[in-house]
Amino acid sequence: MRHSVDRILVVGLGLIGGSLAKALRERRYCRTLVGYDRNTDELEAGLALGVIDEAATDLAEAVHAADIVVLAVPVKATDAVLAEIRPALRPETLLTDVGSTKGNVVEAARAVFGQLPPTFVPGHPIAGSEKSGVAAADAQLFERHKVILTLTETSSAQATLAIARMWQATGAEVLQMELSRHDEVLAATSHLPHLLAFSLVDTLAAEAENTDIFRYAAGGFRDFTRIAASDPTMWHDICLANREAILGQIDRFSEGVARLRQAVATSDSQTMLGIFTRAKASRDHFTRILSSSAYSQKQHPGPVNFVLQPGGALSGQLRLPGDMSISHRAIMLGSLADGITEIEGFAESEDSLATLQAFRDMGVVIEGPHQGAVKIYGVGLEGLQPPPGPLYLGDSGTTMRLLAGVLAGQPFDTELTGGAGLSRRSMAAVIEPLQNMGAGIEAQDAGRPPLRIRGGQRLRGIEHRLPAASAQVKSALLLAGLRAEGATRVLEPAATRDHTERMLRGFGWPVEVVSGCSTVHSGGRLSGAKIAVPGDISAAAAFIVAASIAPGSDIRLEHVGINPTRRGVIDILLLMGADIELCNEDLVGAEPVADIQVRYRPLQGIELPSQLLTTALDECPLLMVAAACAVGESRFHGLGERGARVQERLAVTASALRALGVDAVLEGDGARVRGGRIGGGSLDCGGDARVAVALAVAALRAENEIHIGGCDAVAASFPDFIALARRAGIRIRKEEA
Ligand code: NAP
Repeated sequence: MRHSVDRILVVGLGLIGGSLAKALRERRYCRTLVGYDRNTDELEAGLALGVIDEAATDLAEAVHAADIVVLAVPVKATDAVLAEIRPALRPETLLTDVGSTKGNVVEAARAVFGQLPPTFVPGHPIAGSEKSGVAAADAQLFERHKVILTLTETSSAQATLAIARMWQATGAEVLQMELSRHDEVLAATSHLPHLLAFSLVDTLAAEAENTDIFRYAAGGFRDFTRIAASDPTMWHDICLANREAILGQIDRFSEGVARLRQAVATSDSQTMLGIFTRAKASRDHFTRILSSSAYSQKQHPGPVNFVLQPGGALSGQLRLPGDMSISHRAIMLGSLADGITEIEGFAESEDSLATLQAFRDMGVVIEGPHQGAVKIYGVGLEGLQPPPGPLYLGDSGTTMRLLAGVLAGQPFDTELTGGAGLSRRSMAAVIEPLQNMGAGIEAQDAGRPPLRIRGGQRLRGIEHRLPAASAQVKSALLLAGLRAEGATRVLEPAATRDHTERMLRGFGWPVEVVSGCSTVHSGGRLSGAKIAVPGDISAAAAFIVAASIAPGSDIRLEHVGINPTRRGVIDILLLMGADIELCNEDLVGAEPVADIQVRYRPLQGIELPSQLLTTALDECPLLMVAAACAVGESRFHGLGERGARVQERLAVTASALRALGVDAVLEGDGARVRGGRIGGGSLDCGGDARVAVALAVAALRAENEIHIGGCDAVAASFPDFIALARRAGIRIRKEEA
């Protein structure tokens, strides 16, 4: 086997040096892994444990022979070790380190080398444990953890690449960061928590009778103080090395504790709940988005595939998750309202939780969600606070577009960022009209996130004719209109979801809607309200189509929103001959709801009326599946104006249906699908949750097993899909890679 490197020397064979050596040796990354330590017991143990191939006794000789030298000594020892090895370093030998603080390591290198060599690439693995010494070496320690390289002004690209490759070989993810940023970030995320743990244990242990406290210590104490068992000398050194940044973090923390103390002293429940709910939400958020960067071993969510057995029929009763569009708006308006808003049936999806978290980050106290219940202590139209940093919105385009409208008229600056998917989507359709209202918004190329929204801009109402129908753009403008001078009018070329208009009225803000034009005037107030979020019709659609195509099906979907701007899927299926009955129709808040009874009945292919299709855009993949199970041909037209996402969806669904043997093609500004036999096989849903769900439904009429790859996004938009689908009778299982 060809090794990537000939000789790697690790100086300081303790926990980190030993773990790196062991990981590289197990993966045969270099021909010879040499260890050096001033402590010969550690070296002998390293040899005995198979951590290294050779133990060096002469440091200079070992350095001279090495291709890469890794310093894994305590940071305080860096200058002495560098001075000792400098004469023996060949110009081409790469030099790196693992120190937890970087400013002092680079300073030490400058003192020793004068001009820093291009072969020097400082590094820091964000992984560790409270143990020390080579006996604790763990070859998996760096797997799925981050390693930060803090390049100097002279670090060469070649050296950086070689050091990055070495770390990647251990399973780590390699990042680069400015040196000063590194020391600041680590002071907050690692150094401060360690000091708090040391200090808490020390404080409690100071009183003799407190031995009892340790005896009865509950999980909280144990979890919080585990890191107080870390190496005292190392932490002493880190405190000296990163003094300024650590002091800054201790001061910020002390202010926070003082605020909490004051709230406890005065029984100020709102402040206490505010701190606890924000902290809990941030912690949950952190676990989800940053799990692999913590000093802990967490699993990365891997790719998810669906596997479906052919056939089956639907039966029973289902209650679907709350409507996502309504949930987003309930959080936004509840936060901006005066008084308390209580929500029932909130959709606990990644997207709506991103909205909830954003408002918590802007100082709104929000309790829950707990089994769909959320309580919001509204701060009023002027009450939002500047968030502590950029608002991270996951992959929720709805949150980003609507929030742009809410934030355009705020007195403070904000930055909206998102995950990889959202960062690719253009926000231009919302940015341009908001700019016309006077908003200061900057985006990346082609209107892509992050968006930087300047505070303190005076907005003025405009009349905006939407070039393409979009409920998100319309809503963003209406929300900006709440704080704009005069009237804001939005004219839409085709009807889109009107949840914003209905909910604004529910919160006491008048909205005029006359022949496709929605108007708000500024100067009103929103008053806290009680909101019962109906079941999501987009989620219900999967089961409506499923029961319509699977012989023998008879299912009841309870309390589903049937807003006229959303129920296109029902009306289209009725035209195709489906057996759908709306029962117990009611008006909850401003939204119409009903129980939907669906029984199997053969469908007929039709020309889908385009005005109905525009109210079922998200359901197009499901309707294409319905068409594939119908007798004859169905045509989907009038979708040319509905944006790239709709076209992409049609294309991916058509191609997946073809892979199942169905005659489905893109045609004109839409698609054509001819009903027929559905085969089986492996399909790709293009990472689109709605396509994944539609293909899963198609399996009810398939002849063979269906595998759908790339279904990760379903968890975000329809978290309970698998459980509900199985309960209803769809033979689905999840396969995680
Ligand atoms: P460790 O287990 O105590 O190992 C350090 C080793 O270096 C010990 O064997 C020590 O020997 C040896 N050493 C000290 N001075 C030396 C010198 N002048 N020449 C040669 N060897 C010397 O410590 P560690 O946890 O691996 O930490 C090593 C480095 O990793 C530190 O810079 C630390 O900041 C960084 N780091 C640690 C963690 C963590 O969680 N532990 C995480 C990331 C980065 P003695 O026992 O004789 O002192």
